[in-house]
Amino acid sequence: MRGLVTKSTGSWYQVLGEDGQRYDCRIKGKFRTKGIKSTNPVAVGDWVHFEVEPDLESAVINELEPRRNYIIRKSVNLSKQTQIIGANLDQAFLVVTLASPPTSLGFIDRFLVTTEAYGIPAVLIFNKLDLFSDEGLAILQDYKSIYERIGYPCYEVSALNGVNIDQLKEVLKDKTTLISGHSGVGKSTLLNSIVPEYAVKTGDISDWSDKGKHTTTFAEMYDLPFGGKLIDTPGIRELGIVDIEKQELSHFFPEMRALMNQCRFDNCRHVNEPGCVVIEAVEEGEIESSRYDSYLSIYHNENNRM
Ligand code: GDP
Ligand code: ZN
Repeated sequence: MRGLVTKSTGSWYQVLGEDGQRYDCRIKGKFRTKGIKSTNPVAVGDWVHFEVEPDLESAVINELEPRRNYIIRKSVNLSKQTQIIGANLDQAFLVVTLASPPTSLGFIDRFLVTTEAYGIPAVLIFNKLDLFSDEGLAILQDYKSIYERIGYPCYEVSALNGVNIDQLKEVLKDKTTLISGHSGVGKSTLLNSIVPEYAVKTGDISDWSDKGKHTTTFAEMYDLPFGGKLIDTPGIRELGIVDIEKQELSHFFPEMRALMNQCRFDNCRHVNEPGCVVIEAVEEGEIESSRYDSYLSIYHNENNRM
């Protein structure tokens, strides 16, 4: 049977079969995941083929369909390994907060480089709007303008009070969306405000809000009652840009990508070269200095990796 992976715990996978039933599946054999050394060969969002064992208690995945795209990160536990956190995505939401806890611009930029590298449209959700003072609101507008002017849609919401949640539902409708963010930014609260039916229907609110459960490192996919699917990922500490070469990095900054063919040197690194139009644009304020700082920080990262 063909099915969609809706939950992954590393050794077990929940698969929604085309018959509408959910199956707990194991993996048989080795999957070749083209150059990706990941701890999970199968990820939430994957389409797989599986066979139900004669005992009907368990099922075995024996084939993985090619992925349209995927997103990976460094494993939280095994720093050298990577984990595929979602596959076949239409878009990725990053939930951020300016305070409690603060999300740094560097973290946002790393996330955006990841989504650019994997060709997945990204959306920024600024949460905890209700906590902002006038000063905070001004900073929020600055942050939003940094990202809106380079093409990333931004939304400001209060998950706790249900403010602007309808706007998000419009964006989520009929799409497969991965949602992530630092632990504590209010992702669970947001999920609950988007799909209150879900918490009621399952009677298991703990999945959304229980702190203990939240330390789990596994993703899960939920059906949206208004159409679409949401893949929840556990709080992200590190994102892995595993296969980006330094030379390619500027391709994943849209505002740099637009300029870089005009640099004097074809192989300009945009670090300190004369005649670099990227550096000129930073000096003239056309490229945000925080974005350029993120570029340099990623560029100079020893491992050639994020
Ligand atoms: P998660 O770790 O990202 O899933 O975060 P939670 O949803 O568990 O939220 C962390 C804390 O932030 C909880 O105490 C929430 O009540 C609080 N929180 C979430 N959203 C909001 C919001 O919009 N405004 C305020 N003031 N607090 C919020
Ligand atoms: Zn340059």
